[in-house]
Amino acid sequence: AAAAALVIHRKMKKPGRWVKAMQILKEFEEKCGTPILKLRQVADAMIVEMHAGLASEGGSKLKMLISYVDNLPTGDEEGLFYALDLGGTNFRVLRVQLGGRTRGIVNQQFEEVSIPPSRMTGTSDALFDYVAATLAKFVAQEGSVFKPSPGRQRELGFTFSFPVVQSSIASGTLLKWTKGFSIDDAVGQDVVAELAKAMERRGLDMRIAALVNDTVGTLAGGRYNNNNVVASVILGTGSNAAYVECAHAIPKWHGLLPKSGQMVINMEWGNFRSSHLPLTEYDHALDAESLNPGEQIYEKVISGMYLGEIVRRVLCRMAEEAAFFGDTVPPKLKEPFVLGTPVMSSMHRDTSPDLKVVASNLKDILEISNTSLNMRKAIVELCNIVATRGARLSAAGVLAILKKMGRDTVKEGEKQKTAIAMDGGLYEHYTEYRKCFEGTLNELLGEEVSKTIMIEHSNDGSGIGAALLAASQSQYLELYES
Ligand code: BGC
Ligand code: MG
Repeated sequence: AAAAALVIHRKMKKPGRWVKAMQILKEFEEKCGTPILKLRQVADAMIVEMHAGLASEGGSKLKMLISYVDNLPTGDEEGLFYALDLGGTNFRVLRVQLGGRTRGIVNQQFEEVSIPPSRMTGTSDALFDYVAATLAKFVAQEGSVFKPSPGRQRELGFTFSFPVVQSSIASGTLLKWTKGFSIDDAVGQDVVAELAKAMERRGLDMRIAALVNDTVGTLAGGRYNNNNVVASVILGTGSNAAYVECAHAIPKWHGLLPKSGQMVINMEWGNFRSSHLPLTEYDHALDAESLNPGEQIYEKVISGMYLGEIVRRVLCRMAEEAAFFGDTVPPKLKEPFVLGTPVMSSMHRDTSPDLKVVASNLKDILEISNTSLNMRKAIVELCNIVATRGARLSAAGVLAILKKMGRDTVKEGEKQKTAIAMDGGLYEHYTEYRKCFEGTLNELLGEEVSKTIMIEHSNDGSGIGAALLAASQSQYLELYES
């Protein structure tokens, strides 16, 4: 009670502070506006870039990378396959025993390991040695449940969730790092060769049969479960999407037209930018101080790595210019990335009458106590503004894909269903974000079309997807087929 009285007293003495803080918040909210018309402009701008990226290499901020996946899993895949999923703060190794059409996935096992931060910014060898060592340990525990075919080399699908220009299904050079990674000597290298060398150093005999982006893995895993899956989206630490494109609609593709007539495209939509994106001074500052200034602008407003950091930056301004937290700026609040998106999400979700989750997070994470209920309400509102902008803009991205594929309308008499495989921690764990994303997509598509579009949560489908693609690229395929 004493603390509360103190707060009230302070505010009465300086009523201007609260007004000023609310002004900062209000102004931020206005700049983050995403009315439907704006979202349609964002989607249309993205479609323009999609065409440009497909037309020529380097033709657009959207790389529209050719995945060399021209056939998606059918369900006939058979045998024991491994996958390695590298791309966030954790990486996963898994093995899956595929039983063909009748038996499906007979058995699977995985292990998740966190990547020491030092390996995310060191050398290529340090990262890949760590990965290969973990994989080798995992392979050694294969046991008796899994049945490798005698005399055959083990095969691996490698999910690598960064922009890679592929030269075949199992090779490709790293364009740049994103998210928290920054390993200079790996850029421009063939990541399959880097992994293969590390495996060799480890004495691990395994063939890397497929190199796939997580979006492509998720698409493949999604299709295995549902024939209507034609696109995939990741809303996690980073963000990206892939979809099935008509091969003849890819002018920059000079190879033979695949028999299927199709090609999976990894959009790398995180690098999209457009004057229609509602960017604020906080976003510009975040970008300028990031590991990759000028890059991944769309990703920096929609994905999990950045949402909490945007909230922190606005709070910092409120503290500095309006003494929102009192006479001094809480020192913790000045630390970049202290406020993670999971914390933001738990504050946003707080429905207790006195917002005690907000209070306890402020205390534990930012070392801020003595907040009034009104202050906590303002913080929840701030989380809402940041999450809403991100979720609505990501829905606009999905609209762009559906429009590009001609699936944003219902043709008369047609019963076509479209499913989008979705994965990522943001989508999975940030309920308010997910609801807003889904609501906005429905709003953009209208009721009738919405009924034909399914968002399917694929829980870590990218690893299984990579294993399935490895199976369809197996060097022993002819043996299976005969
Ligand atoms: C990467 C993409 C990846 C996405 C989701 C982005 O930062 O550039 O390749 O698909 O994160 O993991
Ligand atoms: Mg993942």
